[in-house]
Amino acid sequence: MEPTTLQEAILYFADPNNCREYLVARRWPDGVVCPRCQSKNVLFLEKYNRWHCREKHAAPQFTLKTQTIFEDSPIPLDKWLMAIWMIVNCKNGISSWEIHRALKVTQKSTWFMLHRLRLAMKADFGYGPMTKIGGPESEVEVDETFVGGRKQNMHKDKKVRYEAKGGASGKAVVQGILDRTARHVRAKVMPDVKRETLQKEILTQVKYGSKVYTDTAVAYEQGMQWRFVHDMVNKTETYVKGRVHVNGVENFWSLLKRGLNGTYIAVEPFHLERYVDEQVFRYNNRGTEDNPLNDADRFDAAVRQIVGKRLTYKELTGKTETPETQAF
Ligand SMILES: [Zn+2]
Repeated sequence: MEPTTLQEAILYFADPNNCREYLVARRWPDGVVCPRCQSKNVLFLEKYNRWHCREKHAAPQFTLKTQTIFEDSPIPLDKWLMAIWMIVNCKNGISSWEIHRALKVTQKSTWFMLHRLRLAMKADFGYGPMTKIGGPESEVEVDETFVGGRKQNMHKDKKVRYEAKGGASGKAVVQGILDRTARHVRAKVMPDVKRETLQKEILTQVKYGSKVYTDTAVAYEQGMQWRFVHDMVNKTETYVKGRVHVNGVENFWSLLKRGLNGTYIAVEPFHLERYVDEQVFRYNNRGTEDNPLNDADRFDAAVRQIVGKRLTYKELTGKTETPETQAF
Protein backbone atom coordinates (compact mmCIF):
# COMPACT_ATOMS: atom_id res chain seq x y z
CA MET A 1 0.00 0.00 0.00
CA GLU A 2 1.37 3.38 -1.00
CA PRO A 3 1.40 6.01 1.78
CA THR A 4 -1.39 8.55 2.29
CA THR A 5 -0.06 10.52 5.27
CA LEU A 6 3.29 12.02 6.25
CA GLN A 7 3.67 9.41 8.99
CA GLU A 8 3.05 6.54 6.57
CA ALA A 9 5.34 8.12 3.98
CA ILE A 10 8.24 8.28 6.46
CA LEU A 11 7.91 4.57 7.23
CA TYR A 12 7.28 3.55 3.62
CA PHE A 13 10.18 5.39 2.02
CA ALA A 14 12.65 4.34 4.72
CA ASP A 15 12.75 1.06 2.77
CA PRO A 16 14.93 1.58 -0.36
CA ASN A 17 12.90 -1.06 -2.24
CA ASN A 18 9.74 0.99 -1.72
CA CYS A 19 11.52 4.16 -2.88
CA ARG A 20 12.61 2.36 -6.01
CA GLU A 21 9.23 0.79 -6.74
CA TYR A 22 7.39 4.04 -6.26
CA LEU A 23 9.73 6.02 -8.51
CA VAL A 24 10.09 3.36 -11.21
CA ALA A 25 6.30 3.10 -11.52
CA ARG A 26 6.12 6.83 -12.24
CA ARG A 27 9.26 7.39 -14.28
CA TRP A 28 9.16 4.21 -16.34
CA PRO A 29 5.57 2.89 -16.24
CA ASP A 30 6.30 0.66 -19.27
CA GLY A 31 9.56 -0.76 -17.92
CA VAL A 32 12.98 0.71 -17.10
CA VAL A 33 14.59 2.56 -20.00
CA CYS A 34 18.20 3.76 -20.24
CA PRO A 35 18.01 7.57 -19.89
CA ARG A 36 20.99 8.00 -22.23
CA CYS A 37 20.02 5.83 -25.22
CA GLN A 38 16.36 4.94 -24.45
CA SER A 39 17.12 1.21 -24.76
CA LYS A 40 15.14 -1.28 -22.70
CA ASN A 41 18.08 -3.67 -22.80
CA VAL A 42 19.09 -2.94 -19.21
CA LEU A 43 20.15 -5.07 -16.27
CA PHE A 44 19.36 -4.23 -12.65
CA LEU A 45 22.35 -4.53 -10.32
CA GLU A 46 20.63 -5.05 -6.99
CA LYS A 47 23.79 -4.83 -4.91
CA TYR A 48 24.52 -1.31 -6.20
CA ASN A 49 20.90 -0.22 -6.61
CA ARG A 50 21.58 0.86 -10.19
CA TRP A 51 21.04 -0.30 -13.74
CA HIS A 52 23.51 -1.24 -16.42
CA CYS A 53 22.67 -0.54 -20.06
CA ARG A 54 23.85 -3.29 -22.40
CA GLU A 55 24.07 -0.99 -25.42
CA LYS A 56 27.61 0.13 -26.14
CA HIS A 57 28.00 3.74 -25.03
CA ALA A 58 29.85 5.83 -22.48
CA ALA A 59 28.54 5.85 -18.90
CA PRO A 60 26.35 2.75 -19.29
CA GLN A 61 25.22 2.77 -15.64
CA PHE A 62 22.42 4.87 -14.26
CA THR A 63 20.33 5.29 -11.12
CA LEU A 64 16.96 6.75 -10.28
CA LYS A 65 18.71 10.09 -9.78
CA THR A 66 20.21 10.20 -13.28
CA GLN A 67 18.81 13.08 -15.32
CA THR A 68 16.51 14.32 -12.58
CA ILE A 69 16.66 17.20 -10.11
CA PHE A 70 18.38 14.72 -7.73
CA GLU A 71 21.34 14.20 -10.05
CA ASP A 72 24.74 14.36 -8.30
CA SER A 73 23.11 14.80 -4.91
CA PRO A 74 24.56 12.70 -2.07
CA ILE A 75 21.30 13.16 -0.15
CA PRO A 76 19.50 9.81 -0.04
CA LEU A 77 16.26 9.38 -1.97
CA ASP A 78 14.08 8.88 1.09
CA LYS A 79 15.07 12.32 2.39
CA TRP A 80 14.41 13.87 -1.00
CA LEU A 81 10.98 12.28 -1.12
CA MET A 82 10.11 13.43 2.40
CA ALA A 83 11.14 16.96 1.46
CA ILE A 84 8.79 16.77 -1.54
CA TRP A 85 5.97 15.51 0.66
CA MET A 86 6.47 18.42 3.04
CA ILE A 87 6.77 21.18 0.44
CA VAL A 88 3.75 20.20 -1.67
CA ASN A 89 1.46 19.65 1.29
CA CYS A 90 1.93 22.66 3.52
CA LYS A 91 -0.23 25.61 2.64
CA ASN A 92 2.19 28.48 3.00
CA GLY A 93 5.40 26.75 2.10
CA ILE A 94 8.11 25.37 4.28
CA SER A 95 11.38 26.95 5.35
CA SER A 96 14.78 25.36 4.90
CA TRP A 97 15.02 25.37 8.72
CA GLU A 98 11.96 23.15 9.07
CA ILE A 99 13.32 20.64 6.56
CA HIS A 100 16.72 20.82 8.22
CA ARG A 101 15.21 19.88 11.57
CA ALA A 102 12.91 17.20 10.21
CA LEU A 103 15.39 15.45 7.91
CA LYS A 104 18.71 16.09 9.66
CA VAL A 105 20.27 17.63 6.56
CA THR A 106 22.39 20.77 6.97
CA GLN A 107 20.46 24.01 6.65
CA LYS A 108 22.56 25.13 3.69
CA SER A 109 21.84 21.88 1.86
CA THR A 110 18.11 22.12 2.46
CA TRP A 111 18.11 25.63 1.01
CA PHE A 112 19.63 24.18 -2.17
CA MET A 113 17.21 21.21 -2.03
CA LEU A 114 14.22 23.55 -1.83
CA HIS A 115 15.30 25.44 -4.91
CA ARG A 116 15.63 22.21 -6.86
CA LEU A 117 12.24 21.07 -5.64
CA ARG A 118 10.71 24.34 -6.78
CA LEU A 119 12.19 23.73 -10.21
CA ALA A 120 10.46 20.33 -10.23
CA MET A 121 7.20 22.01 -9.21
CA LYS A 122 7.48 24.52 -12.04
CA ALA A 123 4.73 23.73 -14.49
CA ASP A 124 5.65 23.43 -18.11
CA PHE A 125 2.71 25.23 -19.65
CA GLY A 126 4.30 25.18 -23.06
CA TYR A 127 3.39 27.66 -25.73
CA GLY A 128 0.84 27.32 -28.48
CA PRO A 129 -2.91 27.07 -28.96
CA MET A 130 -3.18 23.62 -27.36
CA THR A 131 -1.82 24.74 -24.02
CA LYS A 132 -3.63 28.04 -23.66
CA ILE A 133 -6.23 28.55 -20.95
CA GLY A 134 -9.67 30.10 -21.25
CA GLY A 135 -12.02 29.79 -24.22
CA PRO A 136 -15.16 31.50 -25.55
CA GLU A 137 -17.24 30.35 -22.56
CA SER A 138 -14.54 30.96 -19.96
CA GLU A 139 -13.93 33.91 -17.72
CA VAL A 140 -10.28 34.79 -17.17
CA GLU A 141 -8.98 37.20 -14.53
CA VAL A 142 -5.69 39.05 -15.00
CA ASP A 143 -4.00 41.09 -12.31
CA GLU A 144 -0.54 42.21 -11.14
CA THR A 145 1.05 42.49 -7.76
CA PHE A 146 4.26 44.06 -6.52
CA VAL A 147 6.64 42.21 -4.25
CA GLY A 148 9.55 43.51 -2.16
CA GLY A 149 10.72 47.00 -1.61
CA ARG A 150 12.92 46.99 1.46
CA LYS A 151 15.92 47.87 -0.61
CA GLN A 152 17.73 50.09 1.89
CA ASN A 153 18.52 47.16 4.19
CA MET A 154 20.06 45.12 1.43
CA HIS A 155 23.67 44.24 0.80
CA LYS A 156 25.16 46.06 -2.20
CA ASP A 157 25.49 43.21 -4.72
CA LYS A 158 22.02 42.00 -3.79
CA LYS A 159 20.81 45.50 -4.54
CA VAL A 160 22.30 45.39 -8.03
CA ARG A 161 20.55 42.10 -8.87
CA TYR A 162 17.39 43.47 -7.33
CA GLU A 163 17.39 46.52 -9.56
CA ALA A 164 18.18 44.48 -12.63
CA LYS A 165 14.99 42.52 -12.04
CA GLY A 166 12.68 44.99 -10.34
CA GLY A 167 13.31 48.24 -12.15
CA ALA A 168 13.32 51.74 -10.79
CA SER A 169 10.57 51.25 -8.21
CA GLY A 170 12.65 48.57 -6.51
CA LYS A 171 9.73 46.18 -6.55
CA ALA A 172 9.27 43.06 -8.60
CA VAL A 173 6.12 42.70 -10.68
CA VAL A 174 4.20 39.44 -10.80
CA GLN A 175 1.40 38.96 -13.31
CA GLY A 176 -1.30 36.39 -12.55
CA ILE A 177 -3.80 34.88 -14.99
CA LEU A 178 -6.67 32.80 -13.63
CA ASP A 179 -9.10 30.65 -15.59
CA ARG A 180 -12.10 30.98 -13.30
CA THR A 181 -13.91 27.94 -14.73
CA ALA A 182 -10.92 25.58 -14.65
CA ARG A 183 -9.68 27.17 -11.39
CA HIS A 184 -6.22 27.16 -12.87
CA VAL A 185 -3.68 29.93 -12.29
CA ARG A 186 -0.52 30.94 -14.13
CA ALA A 187 1.84 33.51 -12.65
CA LYS A 188 5.13 34.93 -13.74
CA VAL A 189 7.64 37.57 -12.67
CA MET A 190 7.54 40.31 -15.32
CA PRO A 191 10.32 42.77 -16.24
CA ASP A 192 7.96 45.80 -16.19
CA VAL A 193 4.32 46.88 -16.36
CA LYS A 194 4.40 48.17 -19.92
CA ARG A 195 1.41 47.53 -22.12
CA GLU A 196 3.29 45.37 -24.64
CA THR A 197 4.84 43.26 -21.87
CA LEU A 198 1.62 42.52 -20.00
CA GLN A 199 -0.63 42.13 -23.05
CA LYS A 200 1.88 39.92 -24.86
CA GLU A 201 1.76 37.47 -21.97
CA ILE A 202 -2.05 37.36 -22.12
CA LEU A 203 -1.90 36.71 -25.87
CA THR A 204 0.54 33.86 -25.22
CA GLN A 205 -1.42 32.25 -22.39
CA VAL A 206 -5.11 32.91 -23.07
CA LYS A 207 -7.28 31.64 -25.92
CA TYR A 208 -8.68 34.27 -28.25
CA GLY A 209 -12.32 35.04 -27.60
CA SER A 210 -12.13 34.48 -23.83
CA LYS A 211 -13.82 36.91 -21.49
CA VAL A 212 -10.89 38.68 -19.86
CA TYR A 213 -11.31 40.81 -16.73
CA THR A 214 -8.63 43.24 -15.56
CA ASP A 215 -8.45 46.35 -13.46
CA THR A 216 -8.22 49.76 -15.13
CA ALA A 217 -4.42 49.79 -15.32
CA VAL A 218 -3.03 51.83 -18.20
CA ALA A 219 -1.54 48.68 -19.71
CA TYR A 220 -5.02 47.33 -20.39
CA GLU A 221 -6.84 50.46 -21.51
CA GLN A 222 -6.23 49.85 -25.21
CA GLY A 223 -5.70 46.89 -27.51
CA MET A 224 -7.36 44.09 -25.53
CA GLN A 225 -10.65 44.20 -27.48
CA TRP A 226 -9.07 42.85 -30.68
CA ARG A 227 -8.65 39.34 -29.31
CA PHE A 228 -10.77 39.18 -26.18
CA VAL A 229 -14.11 40.15 -24.72
CA HIS A 230 -12.48 42.58 -22.34
CA ASP A 231 -13.97 44.32 -19.33
CA MET A 232 -12.35 46.31 -16.55
CA VAL A 233 -13.08 47.08 -12.93
CA ASN A 234 -11.74 50.27 -11.38
CA LYS A 235 -10.34 49.02 -8.09
CA THR A 236 -10.08 52.50 -6.62
CA GLU A 237 -13.89 52.72 -6.79
CA THR A 238 -15.15 49.17 -6.40
CA TYR A 239 -13.78 45.64 -6.40
CA VAL A 240 -16.74 43.96 -8.07
CA LYS A 241 -18.82 44.97 -11.08
CA GLY A 242 -21.19 42.02 -11.54
CA ARG A 243 -19.07 39.19 -12.85
CA VAL A 244 -16.24 41.59 -13.64
CA HIS A 245 -13.65 41.35 -10.88
CA VAL A 246 -10.21 39.90 -10.17
CA ASN A 247 -10.92 38.53 -6.71
CA GLY A 248 -9.74 35.05 -7.68
CA VAL A 249 -6.26 36.31 -8.52
CA GLU A 250 -6.34 38.52 -5.41
CA ASN A 251 -6.93 35.36 -3.42
CA PHE A 252 -3.87 33.81 -5.04
CA TRP A 253 -1.82 36.93 -4.19
CA SER A 254 -2.77 36.64 -0.56
CA LEU A 255 -1.59 33.01 -0.49
CA LEU A 256 1.65 33.98 -2.22
CA LYS A 257 2.30 36.87 0.13
CA ARG A 258 1.47 34.91 3.25
CA GLY A 259 4.20 32.49 2.21
CA LEU A 260 6.63 35.23 1.28
CA ASN A 261 6.15 37.30 4.42
CA GLY A 262 5.82 34.47 6.88
CA THR A 263 7.81 31.45 5.86
CA TYR A 264 10.22 32.96 3.39
CA ILE A 265 11.36 36.10 5.10
CA ALA A 266 12.78 38.71 2.73
CA VAL A 267 12.95 36.84 -0.54
CA GLU A 268 15.26 38.29 -3.13
CA PRO A 269 13.54 39.05 -6.44
CA PHE A 270 16.33 36.98 -7.98
CA HIS A 271 14.70 33.89 -6.46
CA LEU A 272 11.13 35.16 -6.54
CA GLU A 273 10.28 33.26 -9.71
CA ARG A 274 10.82 29.95 -7.92
CA TYR A 275 8.60 30.89 -5.00
CA VAL A 276 5.90 31.88 -7.45
CA ASP A 277 6.25 28.51 -9.23
CA GLU A 278 5.90 26.73 -5.90
CA GLN A 279 2.72 28.57 -4.98
CA VAL A 280 1.26 28.05 -8.47
CA PHE A 281 1.83 24.29 -8.11
CA ARG A 282 0.05 24.16 -4.76
CA TYR A 283 -2.81 26.31 -6.03
CA ASN A 284 -3.37 24.26 -9.19
CA ASN A 285 -3.13 20.99 -7.28
CA ARG A 286 -5.28 21.94 -4.30
CA GLY A 287 -8.32 19.88 -3.47
CA THR A 288 -11.67 21.25 -4.55
CA GLU A 289 -15.18 19.85 -4.31
CA ASP A 290 -15.24 18.51 -7.87
CA ASN A 291 -11.56 17.54 -7.84
CA PRO A 292 -10.76 16.18 -4.37
CA LEU A 293 -6.96 15.87 -4.50
CA ASN A 294 -5.27 14.71 -1.32
CA ASP A 295 -1.69 14.86 0.00
CA ALA A 296 -0.68 11.65 -1.78
CA ASP A 297 -2.04 12.94 -5.11
CA ARG A 298 -0.08 16.18 -4.83
CA PHE A 299 3.05 14.24 -3.96
CA ASP A 300 2.51 11.93 -6.94
CA ALA A 301 2.07 14.92 -9.28
CA ALA A 302 5.32 16.52 -8.09
CA VAL A 303 7.31 13.28 -8.32
CA ARG A 304 6.27 12.92 -11.96
CA GLN A 305 7.88 16.31 -12.65
CA ILE A 306 11.38 15.53 -11.35
CA VAL A 307 12.67 14.02 -14.59
CA GLY A 308 14.65 15.97 -17.17
CA LYS A 309 15.30 18.96 -14.93
CA ARG A 310 18.56 20.09 -13.41
CA LEU A 311 19.64 23.05 -11.32
CA THR A 312 23.26 23.32 -10.25
CA TYR A 313 24.50 25.20 -7.23
CA LYS A 314 26.52 27.35 -9.59
CA GLU A 315 23.43 28.36 -11.55
CA LEU A 316 21.75 29.28 -8.31
CA THR A 317 24.53 31.16 -6.55
CA GLY A 318 27.42 31.65 -8.96
CA LYS A 319 29.62 29.57 -6.63
CA THR A 320 31.23 26.30 -7.68
CA GLU A 321 31.44 24.34 -4.41
CA THR A 322 28.17 22.90 -3.15
CA PRO A 323 27.05 22.74 0.48
CA GLU A 324 26.11 19.09 0.01
CA THR A 325 29.72 17.98 -0.17
CA GLN A 326 29.90 18.80 3.54
CA ALA A 327 26.48 17.39 4.33
CA PHE A 328 27.39 13.77 4.98
ZN1 LIG B 1 21.86 3.00 -22.88
